[in-house]
Amino acid sequence: MLLAEIISVGTELLFGEIVDSNAAFLARELGERGVTLHRKTVLGDNLNRVSEGVALALSRADLVIVGGGLGPTDDDLTREAIAAVMNETPAEDPELLAWLRGLYAARGREMPEGNRKQAWLIPSAEALPNPVGTAPGWFVRHGEKVIVALPGPPREMQKMWREQVLPRLPLPQRALVHTTVHTQGLGESNVAQLLGELTRQANPSVATYFRKTGIDVRVAASADTDAEARALLAPVLDDVRGRLARWTWGEGDATLAGVVGERLAGRTLGVIEAGSGGALSLLLADEPGLSGTMPHDAAVTQDHRRLITLGLTPVTLKEQGLVSEQAARELAAGAREHLASDVGLSVVVAASGEEAGLAYAALDTGTAQYTASVNWPGDPAQVRERAAVTALGLAFR
Ligand code: ATP
Ligand code: MG
Repeated sequence: MLLAEIISVGTELLFGEIVDSNAAFLARELGERGVTLHRKTVLGDNLNRVSEGVALALSRADLVIVGGGLGPTDDDLTREAIAAVMNETPAEDPELLAWLRGLYAARGREMPEGNRKQAWLIPSAEALPNPVGTAPGWFVRHGEKVIVALPGPPREMQKMWREQVLPRLPLPQRALVHTTVHTQGLGESNVAQLLGELTRQANPSVATYFRKTGIDVRVAASADTDAEARALLAPVLDDVRGRLARWTWGEGDATLAGVVGERLAGRTLGVIEAGSGGALSLLLADEPGLSGTMPHDAAVTQDHRRLITLGLTPVTLKEQGLVSEQAARELAAGAREHLASDVGLSVVVAASGEEAGLAYAALDTGTAQYTASVNWPGDPAQVRERAAVTALGLAFR
């Protein structure tokens, strides 16, 4: 078993000025490759603490990944820390220095002297080329163990991880297969209840995740070969599918908007949103490569007079209010008629005020109407998003 620890270095990470998305990325990558991650640590730019952190991690794990602190400035101390742990002295590597100078020369600039330390190496370290920045990484071998140092900027880190680190790692030869089932309309504890004992087994594992589009259920299995892993996964996945069928809108790479697009099957969609700040249109627009799911037309307005021209009746507005099931129904029908669309979808939301958290959505296909509601207080952005997701959920009911 390969055991790993991740250390993210940066005072700005420690103090919460930026979020440690690199560690999250690396954790997912390791998990998918069957590497067991035991710890993530965040440390400020301090030589003693980073050295101590690397030494400790190295004493416990086979693989230590250090992110950040490879820049040219005095507070970039990752090289110094690893050199101290390895008890080696860094020296300028002529090839790296020439490469660095070349980078600057190509941009018509002279390399600042401070950058020279980016050309440092220790005897146990191999330089990892950085194709998108000036900070090379380090791949350090210590017996059977490995320390990897990668730059902080996510784009550089991810590219180097894939292209430079992965091919060098002694990854376990286990096959891992997984499928994610996407649900909508149930809370996480309801889903857990439906899954029951399934969530308590280790292989295949069944785990629930809260997403803005509903609850995802990830089923994963590992075995020596791909075929074995698939055979192990299949019956559990079928069981999960069966238990959640009523609430499932897709699997794997499917997106809610994409599924809606498929259900529409060439029909045009008109959208009316009141109080949601365009959250529904935004979800639809978020769909990469599926321009078919873009609303044919959309109106985002809270103006009562305008909503009346779009199908809301003054009687409903007066007697039941804008945030009501009847108003949602009238606006879904209105979206078909006034936005000249085959299918109308509406959402009416109270994002703030006394009724904050209440929302209704309606779908009108011309032959049938469906409605849904949510009543779940939260901050206005959450309320708007939940309402939009609820409205999209109507399209696959
Ligand atoms: P550089 O050569 O750019 O100085 P570096 O290796 O010294 O790279 P840092 O100075 O630690 O890296 O971080 C540079 C920037 O990268 C940070 O300001 C931040 O925007 C981003 N960054 C660093 N670490 C992380 C992290 N763990 N998660 C997300 N972003 C990060
Ligand atoms: Mg830096």
